[in-house]
Amino acid sequence: MTLLDGKKISNDIKNEIAAEVQKMKDNGEKVPHLAAVLVGDDGASLTYVGSKVRACERIGFESTLVKLPNTTTEVELLKKIKELNEDDAIDGFIIQLPLPPQINEQKVLMAVDPHKDVDGFHPENFGKMALDMSTFIPATPFGILELLERYKVETKGKHTVVIGRSHIVGRPMSILMSRKGWPGNSTVTLTHSRTEDLSKITKEADIIISALGVPKFVKADMVKDGVVIIDVGITRVPDENHPKGYVITGDVDFEKVSEKASFITPVPGGVGPMTIAMLLKNTLLAREQRSEK
Ligand code: NAD
Repeated sequence: MTLLDGKKISNDIKNEIAAEVQKMKDNGEKVPHLAAVLVGDDGASLTYVGSKVRACERIGFESTLVKLPNTTTEVELLKKIKELNEDDAIDGFIIQLPLPPQINEQKVLMAVDPHKDVDGFHPENFGKMALDMSTFIPATPFGILELLERYKVETKGKHTVVIGRSHIVGRPMSILMSRKGWPGNSTVTLTHSRTEDLSKITKEADIIISALGVPKFVKADMVKDGVVIIDVGITRVPDENHPKGYVITGDVDFEKVSEKASFITPVPGGVGPMTIAMLLKNTLLAREQRSEK
């Protein structure tokens, strides 16, 4: 069994980006600038945004954190987005999800300039991805492709089963794994909460990409020997013995499933760190595209 070490690969990627940034600085060029908008004070969102901003600082990007109160109206947020769209200093920005209930998520994502949409959530970018055109690929799926590529995992002709059909992970992942090229060329089954007899399908899978958010949902008796496992799930499970009061748990029963797997991502230290690295990569791409204009 080979561990798909997202911590190591994400560090390699960050070092590669830092070297690019150093070159930009040496040439007197503007370095990439990422802004993150956080509405409210949700604990997990604060942690995610914090690590994104810190990652920017470490590799030499400029970063801006826009913190708005929980009571922010849709109109106020749309005004902020317009400002960021028009601000020439900002190369890319993200709106941390979820948003408070008074704000329509779709309206907000549609308002982001597609050229600055480094999360790849705007329909224009999502459409381009589906049509194999060059674009920003959403960071988590992009990170999974990068892991498969760097560990030279064969995907051609394989049966890939994706669990979960969210717009940010499962759905784009199913499209990317079925595209021409590598990683891709898989025969894909996209499963979800209404799928019948899921374990019959997962038992036939060569590659399982699980993104549903139920701790230890994928058990050893649901997979075949030699399976490749990508565990996207991140759930905080209460644990009094842990200083933080919780442990981060994936969708896969790692201990048992890893005995059958040929490749597997750990949680934490698998897909999670890759997501941040690929957001930085998208921001670098955004800067490069803007400087070519
Ligand atoms: P989501 O929470 O929006 O949706 C869950 C999906 O799982 C739905 O499509 C649903 O149909 C499916 N599902 C639920 N129960 C099911 C069942 N019994 N059988 C089959 N499918 C079922 O999904 P999301 O936003 O993609 O998040 C999924 C998990 O991935 C969460 O734990 C989240 O925290 C994590 N996540 C991690 C990263 C990362 O960087 N590693 C990024 C995004 C999400």
